[in-house]
Amino acid sequence: MCGIAGYVGDRESADVLVDALSKLEYRGYDSAGIAVFDHGNIKVKKCKGRLANLVEKMDEEGKPQGHVGIGHTRWATHGEPSDINSHPHGNKRVTIVHNGIIENYATLKEKLQKKGFIFKSSTDTEVLVQLIEYMKVTNQVSLLTAVQLALGEVIGAYAIAILDKEHPDEIIAARKSSPLVVGIGADEFFLASDATPIVEYTDKVVYLEDGEIAVINRGKELKVVDLSNVE
Ligand code: GLU
Repeated sequence: MCGIAGYVGDRESADVLVDALSKLEYRGYDSAGIAVFDHGNIKVKKCKGRLANLVEKMDEEGKPQGHVGIGHTRWATHGEPSDINSHPHGNKRVTIVHNGIIENYATLKEKLQKKGFIFKSSTDTEVLVQLIEYMKVTNQVSLLTAVQLALGEVIGAYAIAILDKEHPDEIIAARKSSPLVVGIGADEFFLASDATPIVEYTDKVVYLEDGEIAVINRGKELKVVDLSNVE
């Protein structure tokens, strides 16, 4: 188990994410990280070790500033605990945090490598984010459609949260066999592996069901669809 957090709203998202991840520490982890839209760019800070190490790193290097972001505490299953293998993963265009295991990652990775994709980490998660990017670019589709296409090829368990540089007000989240909860506040949304980090902000929570994908967008209603787009 690990922890996933997300925030869309007016607060400083790095602060909300660190606070949420601290409340998920009990689940166990070996590294931590966040990705935040900072002036239109996705800024990632991550490192091996305790959440306190991440906070220290951000104190030294500067904390990403912005109101939309995702966070993660990792419990390594594929690839040793290290800075590189820590989440978020991605290429600053599409960035993901993932809880779970992509069982067919080796086959998918080989296919992507043959198409010229290069991998920085040894995680199964990086395969998923590259697959989403591949689906998006080759099919010229929205992030939501790309996520649906990619998840259609994946065998395994996941709770994921994704940022896309083209949609700086949005998080896409999905789950299968791993819990994920959306909190709905006044003009803000929270995302977490369980309701513990959310209850201090809002009592309106939606527990995503297996196979559901949530589109969390600033200023819009929460949209929940399945892999075939049925609401
Ligand atoms: N399988 C992923 C990894 O090893 C996610 C592990 C987790 O659930 O924290 O990075």
